[in-house]
Amino acid sequence: MSDETGNNDTVQSAREHCGIFTIEHPMPILGTWRDITYVPVRDKIWSVTEGIYRSIFLEGDKGVIAFDTLTTPGTARAYAGAVQRTFPKKSIHTIVYSHDHLDHTGYAADLAPNADIIAHKLCHDVVVARQSDGQTTPTETWEGERKAYEIDGVYFELLYPGPTHGDGNIAAYFPQSKVLFMVDTVIPGVGYAFFPDWHFTPYVPVMKRFLSLDWDVFVPGHFWMTDRQGFIESLEFYDLMAESAQQAIIDGVDPHDWPSMTKYTDEKLGPDFGKLFRYDEYCAMNLSRMMQQYLTGGWGIEGNYQPNTQPF
Ligand SMILES: [Zn+2]
Repeated sequence: MSDETGNNDTVQSAREHCGIFTIEHPMPILGTWRDITYVPVRDKIWSVTEGIYRSIFLEGDKGVIAFDTLTTPGTARAYAGAVQRTFPKKSIHTIVYSHDHLDHTGYAADLAPNADIIAHKLCHDVVVARQSDGQTTPTETWEGERKAYEIDGVYFELLYPGPTHGDGNIAAYFPQSKVLFMVDTVIPGVGYAFFPDWHFTPYVPVMKRFLSLDWDVFVPGHFWMTDRQGFIESLEFYDLMAESAQQAIIDGVDPHDWPSMTKYTDEKLGPDFGKLFRYDEYCAMNLSRMMQQYLTGGWGIEGNYQPNTQPF
């Protein structure tokens, strides 16, 4: 469609929220509609995915509480469309940010521009510093490790276990439904790519804190849902990868030499991990990144944080 200027589509594209992109060209890929699948989880909890990214939304008495915004402006609008089809008479009045990354929380301006936004203080501070186009500043922040919310007739608790991935990455716990939701930590298969923004020293110890809570469904930020056993096995993979990374260094493998990395990975890890989801794409990347942890000492204060490992 075009208006009297004949270039409505171009104008629409140029006005798309663009994150931290600085080039001037229209970026239609950001606005592309993605089909969304939405399924009931338990009670008032629903889950949405466009195939790779996953989140949850909650049915309140009067409106909807949405977690995250999915991955682009177009996906955020499609997410809003999925919520509207599920609850035609209810609109999104609250968004909860899982963590600071734009691919999960970058486009609240497209999902529900007038919603209240809840985030952990550590996430809030990155959002404020980043000033990304479309990532709305949280309107309510919280600090510490645990906060209970009763919003529009729905009870849930937000938990910050310590540094895991990104900044201020929280879990949502639904004790009555025995459901736990957390993004970019436990996901099916091997670890994601080169473990972008993971904080390895505290990661496994603080994730194990969630095992002190009563839940049997885990909703991750990618791919499909799992249970306690899947959660435990994912953490075991990180421990095994840490041991393998140290051994690879001792064996003289250079993490910057990609042919050597893939050969070593296939020889040493393929027999045990070869059947895991996305092994061929990511396992050598996982190992290379984990080797950097031991060669550099881990990155920044979050990567060297000595965690609280007390049960929740
Ligand atoms: Zn992330």
